[in-house]
Amino acid sequence: MIITMKRDADPKKVRGLLDGLETHGVKVFEIIGTTYSVYGLTGDTTGIDDEAIRAHKCVKKVVRIAEKYKLVGRLLHPEDSVIKVGDIPIGGDSKVQVIAGPCSIENESMLLRIAEQVKEAGATLLRGGAYKPRTSPYAFQGLGTEGIRALVKAREVTGMPVVSELMNTDKIDEFEENVDLIQIGARNMQNFGLLKDLGKRTTKPIMLKRGFSNTIEEWIMCAEYIVHSGNPNVIFCERGIRTFETQTRNTLDPSVVQIIKQKTHLPIVIDPSHAAGTYKLVEPSSLAAIATKTDGLMIEAHDDPENALSDGPQCIKPERLRSIIAKGKKIAEAVGREM
Ligand code: PEP
Ligand code: MN
Repeated sequence: MIITMKRDADPKKVRGLLDGLETHGVKVFEIIGTTYSVYGLTGDTTGIDDEAIRAHKCVKKVVRIAEKYKLVGRLLHPEDSVIKVGDIPIGGDSKVQVIAGPCSIENESMLLRIAEQVKEAGATLLRGGAYKPRTSPYAFQGLGTEGIRALVKAREVTGMPVVSELMNTDKIDEFEENVDLIQIGARNMQNFGLLKDLGKRTTKPIMLKRGFSNTIEEWIMCAEYIVHSGNPNVIFCERGIRTFETQTRNTLDPSVVQIIKQKTHLPIVIDPSHAAGTYKLVEPSSLAAIATKTDGLMIEAHDDPENALSDGPQCIKPERLRSIIAKGKKIAEAVGREM
């Protein structure tokens, strides 16, 4: 529901009306950038009587909206959101940012080494998994807190903001304290309890990966959950979906960037590594993503992929990352972006 107030409405009466509406369990958001004061109501507005609001002295207009994505959609928020991760902006007209690093943090020294190498190659953020969602319980599960400590060290040394995957609500405080961008993996995209807690318990930016069997609409709704619960800082991350095709680990649809941008104001980054499943396809997929005007890339990089403890076959070496960034700059320029 959207309520437009009269130009000469008494601010105290407006506040009183809005406070009253909030007692119905809805959230009220001010919509900025208009000549009138306009407010958006989200949540279950079915118990609210439009006629009673319309009759209020301060109110000029009341419109019910059928918009599914009330908060992440463009209707109430037409301009692009730019989300800052540490001091790095993602989205809008910002540079195309590159998040790079190993799938898993294997020990502190490998992380520090790879962090320096990817920074040298042009990456602006460092990734590294400490809590790993592995298909087999016998596979390497990540270093946990020790891995998070290594990330903090790598940030101190390189100055790069750090990104890591959170799997459970019991670690939100640890991530709030130590991680700059909280990754929610494909397998947890629809973990609604976790999404609600991320909204309530942290304002750190969240990178929401697409579930491998989820539609774009379901994915956007999960971002809506986080924002509705109180955290507006959400970045989408496409990592490919499961299809009948077996030549790649997942299927990466290049139209996803523009679909997300048409439907929402939030940034999107592309993860070509988990889509491809093989290092050979990471460069062409990255360049294609830049051409579609992605706001960023997240790429798995390792200096010894053959011996990586997870996702070695899809990890590129730092020198290939340098090549992607050099070629990417030209493509970005051709589509009106900086990289
Ligand atoms: C990852 O980024 O290492 C990862 C596990 O990704 P996804 O959730 O997309 O499989
Ligand atoms: Mn991985």
